[in-house]
Amino acid sequence: MAAAAVTDPSTRDAAEVASAVATDVDRGLAAAEAAARLDRDGPNRLEEERTVPAWRRLLSQFADPLVYLLLAAAVISLVAWSAEGSDGVPYDVLVIMVVVLANAVLGFVQERRSAQAVAALQRMAAANAAVIRDGGLARVPAFDVVVGDLLVLAEGDAVPADARLVDGALWAAEASLTGESTPVAKSPAPLAEPAEVGDRTSMVFAGTAITRGTARAIVTATAMDTETGRVARLLGATESDPTPLEREIARLGRVLGLGVLGIAAVVIATVALTQDISSLQDAVDVLLLGVALAVAAVPEGLPAIMSVVLALGVQRMARRHAIVKDLASVETLGSASVICSDKTGTLTQNRMAVTRIVTADGTASPAEASRLAREAVAFGALASDATVAGDGGFEGDPTEVAFLEAERELEAEALRSGFDRVDSVAFSSERRRMSVLATHDDRADVLAVKGAPDVVLARCARLRTTEGDIVLDPERRSGLDAAIDTLADGGMRTLAVAVREAPASSAQEHHEVDLTLLGVVGLEDPPRDEARAAVAEAQAAGIRVVMITGDHPRTASAIASQLGIVPPGSPALAGAALSRMDDAALAAAVEDASVFARVAPEHKLRIVDALQAHGEVVAMTGDGVNDAPALRSADIGVAMGRGGTEVAREAANMILTDDDFATIVEAVREGRGILDNITRFLRFLIASNLGEVLAVFIGVVLAGWLGLRNASGAVVAPLLATQILWINLLTDLGPALAVSAEPYADDLMERRPRRPGTPMISRRMWTGMAFTGTVMAAVTLVTFDLFLPGGLLPGSSDLDTARTAAFTVLVIANLTVAFAARSETRSTLHRLFSNPWLWGAVGLSLALQVAVVHLPVLNEAFSTSPLSLAQWGACAVLALAVPLAIEARKAVLRSRDRAAARG
Ligand code: ATP
Repeated sequence: MAAAAVTDPSTRDAAEVASAVATDVDRGLAAAEAAARLDRDGPNRLEEERTVPAWRRLLSQFADPLVYLLLAAAVISLVAWSAEGSDGVPYDVLVIMVVVLANAVLGFVQERRSAQAVAALQRMAAANAAVIRDGGLARVPAFDVVVGDLLVLAEGDAVPADARLVDGALWAAEASLTGESTPVAKSPAPLAEPAEVGDRTSMVFAGTAITRGTARAIVTATAMDTETGRVARLLGATESDPTPLEREIARLGRVLGLGVLGIAAVVIATVALTQDISSLQDAVDVLLLGVALAVAAVPEGLPAIMSVVLALGVQRMARRHAIVKDLASVETLGSASVICSDKTGTLTQNRMAVTRIVTADGTASPAEASRLAREAVAFGALASDATVAGDGGFEGDPTEVAFLEAERELEAEALRSGFDRVDSVAFSSERRRMSVLATHDDRADVLAVKGAPDVVLARCARLRTTEGDIVLDPERRSGLDAAIDTLADGGMRTLAVAVREAPASSAQEHHEVDLTLLGVVGLEDPPRDEARAAVAEAQAAGIRVVMITGDHPRTASAIASQLGIVPPGSPALAGAALSRMDDAALAAAVEDASVFARVAPEHKLRIVDALQAHGEVVAMTGDGVNDAPALRSADIGVAMGRGGTEVAREAANMILTDDDFATIVEAVREGRGILDNITRFLRFLIASNLGEVLAVFIGVVLAGWLGLRNASGAVVAPLLATQILWINLLTDLGPALAVSAEPYADDLMERRPRRPGTPMISRRMWTGMAFTGTVMAAVTLVTFDLFLPGGLLPGSSDLDTARTAAFTVLVIANLTVAFAARSETRSTLHRLFSNPWLWGAVGLSLALQVAVVHLPVLNEAFSTSPLSLAQWGACAVLALAVPLAIEARKAVLRSRDRAAARG
């Protein structure tokens, strides 16, 4: 673990701290040194190092009550075998050991696979940090930051480790650490005396966020040695709670386990009472049967398969540009009922272009621009931070790039040449404007302001015309407002440009008054091509799409209707109106409003809360520092991987690497598909286990009647313990895993969202599984009856052959259930060949069954005897009764559903 290398760096000089942690305040650490320190101290992560060696993880697979039961059974039968003279090979013991080992290896491999997937995701989702190494700026994963690293911090950054400021000044939001709600000013000056964490103004702390300013700082502590790490250690383990799905599966396992213990006890008692137990070996056989039954009935592979399914799903999502940070979010995604999305860049392309300019001369396109229009564009370009890129194009905020591009197109640069920028206030979503103060050798200094028209116009006193500046009276103003509304109704983003030609000492707020309006510029930002289809897909899936934007309400509703979010002409709810509502009024308003405009980040949190008050499962996008609370509060916080800040990435559950709305819908689809496949393998596993248990249970009860008798005429159990273990191994290994890899159903996005808290297994599904299990058991017992003398059907086979046949029928029936279990109501023939894995797994299982019936060594181990071709045919026909019966039930359910839909 990293050591806090300096004691109380906040009171020491920056230079002193630098030498204490052996770093250079200009060049930072050498890359090799940073790597060595990372090796020595471990990753910068908030958890104790818990690298459990592989052998211990493998051993932990054996720590399971069922395994204890099996091992105990193995020991007992070994003792019995040696007590009875150690004849031949103790096959029971061998089979049990193979089953135990196979299950352990399978569980181990699956667990490792999902752990690796999660670790890979965590690396992808990790926040990055800007550090200076070898004198150059580098972006590294926050995990890799080491003591002595020289951090470069700027607005929107998440502070990766505790660090001592070297130069610069900034404000940090430290609420997560200290509870202080307003950002705290930080500067490099050392403290005169030691202070509490909240007052250490020369330090920044891991887990906090930079809201404003820039600075460089030397890392003094990482991982669990940071202040946040100390708190985490105090609070105890950072283990995450089980997710609702995991809890449900665990509960299911317990219920089935208890049920099965009951059944096993009854079976053992029945056999002991009705059958002739004459030797130690007989007694051990009965015991083994009970154990095998217990093992067969508990779907022990369930948790492991579930984590593999989830892990494979998140890997697929990552390939499709959605990085989910934890497996639990997959469940939540599958239940999402509202998606709140930013407009610019997520629903639209964020490729702005100036298409209309409104001035005192009227409205014109760039091609028809008057001198006034060109001046408006030029001073708008002056009031921006975008710059010329290496390739001669422009880089920066797309809105500002659009001004520079238009200026070049209109050849308007000359109108502002010679101006030198001396001060500026950058754009923020709160102020909704940007100002630049510029001086000129021959002309008066100018303050240029561009921003949202409502904000800028409120600060204008005059309007520029070709004849000079005139007073902006109410009549001219309403004329302008009407022109702005027309631009906004066309879906354009609107910005007003104004200047003040009086000398002002800075660009600060109190100087942004008494401005002269040059004009209003309309920018087009077309919707993303795929967004419209994605909105429609979400709506068809019962998911409401809500658009949230800082733009003008008319722009917002125009774009929203172009995308199909609302019908044309629907008004947007503006931030100002939202501010006036109390929580109850807002909760009522969100029922109808799907477009929110002129929204400030704090409104987003209220919108999330209001939607959640209706029981909605809300996905919310965000990119800025101020979006973090809304992202945390949403059920699924979605951060923008390209445009977003590190703070937003950290607060989110999912990161979109392409910033695209369609990717959110795709992720929801994936989430639903994963839940669907979990349901599928639950249906298969429980139904088939139930079939095995019922076959043995009812078989034991009816043994005498069915003719299940040994050579000396005593009644015996229908299947042997080894045979039950074999079936279990066969179904749990391949087919169960393959069922969970089924391609997603095509009607996935036509269903309503799943209500959170609804059980994975519905009543209809329970009935279906009980039905399938009963039919399987019945068919197995009919096989006995057919092969053995006695019962309803006359037969003439010996006990071993009859058992082999019934055993084979049960296996084949099981394999057909794997196909049938893919849907509760759809025909098994529907997309029968859609899953090559399933066919492969079923083919392999069948081959193994042929081997167990025909290979002499397996005949001996499993007490089977070879079947003739005719007997195989009989087995196949009998087994096929199972899928036929399921098919009939499905047809009944479908016609019932159709009737319900009509009525
Ligand atoms: P979202 O991404 O949530 O949809 P937005 O990008 O639409 O939000 P903001 O970026 O907050 O919203 O912009 C709000 C308003 O501020 C815009 O309608 C525009 O008038 C103005 N504006 C946007 N960018 C700038 C800028 N760089 N300089 C000045 N004003 C701007």
